[in-house]
Amino acid sequence: MATPRTVAIDGPAGAGKSTIGALVAERLGYTFLDTGAMYRAVALAALRRGIDPDDGPRLTELARQLRIAIGPPTVRDGRAYTVLLDGADVTWDIRSPEVDRIVSQAARVPFVRDVMVEQQRAIADRGRIVMVGRDIGTVVLPNAERKVFLTASAAERARRREEELAARGEKRTRQDLLAEILRRDELDSKRTVAPLRAADDAIVVETDGLSVREALDRVLQVIERRPIPS
Ligand code: C5P
Repeated sequence: MATPRTVAIDGPAGAGKSTIGALVAERLGYTFLDTGAMYRAVALAALRRGIDPDDGPRLTELARQLRIAIGPPTVRDGRAYTVLLDGADVTWDIRSPEVDRIVSQAARVPFVRDVMVEQQRAIADRGRIVMVGRDIGTVVLPNAERKVFLTASAAERARRREEELAARGEKRTRQDLLAEILRRDELDSKRTVAPLRAADDAIVVETDGLSVREALDRVLQVIERRPIPS
């Protein structure tokens, strides 16, 4: 297999990008970067400082100051990576319902995106990376050698999110999660800057009804350019 330097995986909330992306990276021995975690860290910092997620100028100022670092897991508690915000471990804090609620508002501020994209490109420059998000194949790494757009129906995504949370002992109703997912899809795909969409040269992988293993295999087929059996 000709190994690509960069693999971009995009898709809507709950499509399995983080799970699949981490497994792909592990399989290839590449670095994994979940860019959603970076936007979540900005949203968490805004919440903690009482900044309105629609206040572009204050979020811009905040993004300029924050130090966000994502690296290998430092604790063995099921995490795929550790997220540090100004040196403090916020790996689980960025997954709270409060962050879910405002992250897409914070992520539509152009300067917040500029700061994140600059960091993402610097990390990708080192090569051998699997990067997941919403705009990786379209904006962050338009020249990525492999582009996958991972998707599933909203109902399936809400079901998976519910399961994922339950596994961590958190309870939210499926109805609530579905509403949240639809709201984020809407905000993410309708924003002016870097909206969620599949790059023209991305391969779309639909994961409804597929197990993690099956979805992983499909994505590896795309990356390894193996023919997809019909
Ligand atoms: O992937 P995850 O659901 O953790 O992302 C949280 C939010 O961060 C998304 O709903 C989106 O608003 C934003 N995001 C983004 N661009 C990316 C990754 C995430 O705008 N590349």
